[in-house]
Amino acid sequence: MIKMEIKTTTQTELIDITDRVRSRILESGIKDGICVITTRHTTSSIIINENERGLRNDILDMLETLLPQNKNYAHDLIDNNAHSHLRAVLLGMNAMVPIEDGHPVLGTWQSIFFVELDGPRNRTVNIKILES
Ligand code: ZN
Repeated sequence: MIKMEIKTTTQTELIDITDRVRSRILESGIKDGICVITTRHTTSSIIINENERGLRNDILDMLETLLPQNKNYAHDLIDNNAHSHLRAVLLGMNAMVPIEDGHPVLGTWQSIFFVELDGPRNRTVNIKILES
């Protein structure tokens, strides 16, 4: 298991980790297999989509529209971050990409993002690389 530390700087943000994942796959020496990327936290997510400034803002706007803060969620009685947990449930905690010839197989416009939903915090992402 490879650990990747991520220091986030705002409450909600998308951080492109594609290059860091690609480096870890190269370092592993595994040529063909599967790479599983998981976040260890209940208020963050891993997604794959296009790294374009407008779209990144649209994703954050979507989260605010679907799951606004301060909506009298039950969890807010003890922790005041229910919206962060619910957004993490919506986006999911992992992504998987195939590996071929030592590289992650991604489309031209696909990037791997760590999504901070309750920052800023120090976060840990796990990368598991399986040979096939
Ligand atoms: Zn909480």
